[in-house]
Order: sequence, then C-alpha cells, then structure tokens
Amino acid sequence: MPELLFLGTCAHDYSPRLKSEFCNCFDRDARRSSSALLCGHVLIDCGDHTLESLRIAGIDTSEITDLVLTHLHGDHFNADNVRILASGRMEPLRLWCSEDAVLPELPCEIRRMEKGVRYSLCGEISVTGLWANHDANVFPQHLCFELNGKKLLYATDGAWMLNPTYAFLRKKELDALVIDCTTGDYEGEWRMAEHNSIPMLRVMLPCLHTARIITKSTAVYATHLAPSLHKPHAETERILQGIGAHAAFDGLKIAF
Ligand SMILES: [Zn+2]
Ligand SMILES: [Zn+2]
Repeated sequence: MPELLFLGTCAHDYSPRLKSEFCNCFDRDARRSSSALLCGHVLIDCGDHTLESLRIAGIDTSEITDLVLTHLHGDHFNADNVRILASGRMEPLRLWCSEDAVLPELPCEIRRMEKGVRYSLCGEISVTGLWANHDANVFPQHLCFELNGKKLLYATDGAWMLNPTYAFLRKKELDALVIDCTTGDYEGEWRMAEHNSIPMLRVMLPCLHTARIITKSTAVYATHLAPSLHKPHAETERILQGIGAHAAFDGLKIAF
C-alpha cells in the first residue's frame, strides 16, 4: 500500500513551542512547515522546517528522487533548503512545479506541469496538477497522485474546490484526501477565499461524498492547521472526527 508520511502540518504561524529544545522531535502541538513524503522518495513541498523534519524522521535524503511543489509561499518552498536537498544526490533532483512558476536558480531538473495533465514520477507514481483557489502570485496547484490504482489528493493550500478541479475529481473515489484546514471551528473567518476552516469542511465533505470524490473508505486528513486559530491537537481531532475526518500531525504515517 502507498504510504504518506506527514513531515509538517502547520500553516505559516509557527508555534513558539518549536523554539524549545523539547522540540527536537515531533510534537502534535508544535507543528512544522507543511510538507509530506510519499512512498519514501517523493517529497511534497520543501519549506522552512522540512530538512529538520526529514532528520527527525530519520529519512535518508539521498533517497528523494522527486520534489513536487504545491506553490511558492515560504512555508512550502525555501530555495536554500531545496539547494541543500539537491546537493545530497548523485542524480539531479527532479523538481515539479506549476508550468508558469517563476523560480530562482536551482541545481535541479525542473519539470513544469500543465494543469490537468498526468506526469510520471519515479517508481510508477504519477501526479496531476489541479486548479487551487489560493494566491495566484505563487502559482498554486493541488496534486492528485496515483499509484497501483490508489489515488491521493493533496489539497493545500487552497479554499473550497474550483470548478475544473471538481470536474476532474468527480466519481474518482479517492483513497486518501489531505485537505487545507488552516482555520478553526468558528465562523466569520476572513481567509475564506484562500484557506478552509472547519465549518467549511463541514459543508464540503458531504458534498464530496455526493459527487463520489470521496467514499466511506476514503482516509480524510485535515492539514495546514494554524496553531493560533485552532484548539490543541486532541480537541481538534475530536471535532474533526465528528465530520468524518482526522487532524494530521507531524510524524503521522498513513497507508492507503
Ligand atoms: Zn501555507
Ligand atoms: Zn500558501
């Protein structure tokens, strides 16, 4: 079964707890910058804390063949960290990004992705970039991964679901959905055109069921959780379980 390791599940408001020495480990209430590792060698985003997270998880970074970027905000893309990651490999690191992304000079093999087109990564994994409702200046995309008939949508950062993405995903019956849930369980949140809140997921998830984008067996994980806008992890997990989802945390590994 494909495995996804959450390396970071935070929004850009990093917790002050990260500064304590106690935090040289994964802590469910001191989340690091948002990233994840698929099947041990496909890295999704490389932000401010990703190298530290890889070290804590005991990952040999020379095994990472592909880096796929959701967008260029600093909590997802840190050029210095990408350079360090790329320098640890014999073969060039393949960096996948939206076709229009403006990147600095990087020692990577740059692969540009047209939305809605499926690309093959190393190890029979494929990825399709989909339209995301997020800051257009940072070239956002949601990522639909497929491997051995299993499908994962990694959908952060972004609010709601844009029409062409919905059309692409209809009846796909995802095995796993990782979705933006930056803000907590309250109404009146001003970020509604760029990030999701728990009330937004409360509306969306039943609709995704109706459209057969997810099913009863889809593993649904909320990520990109802002410490300043959410309750502590255990309470957020309890709230999300009430709507058929879970709160991701740094160091969590799921198989789907
Ligand atoms: Zn972000
Ligand atoms: Zn962002």
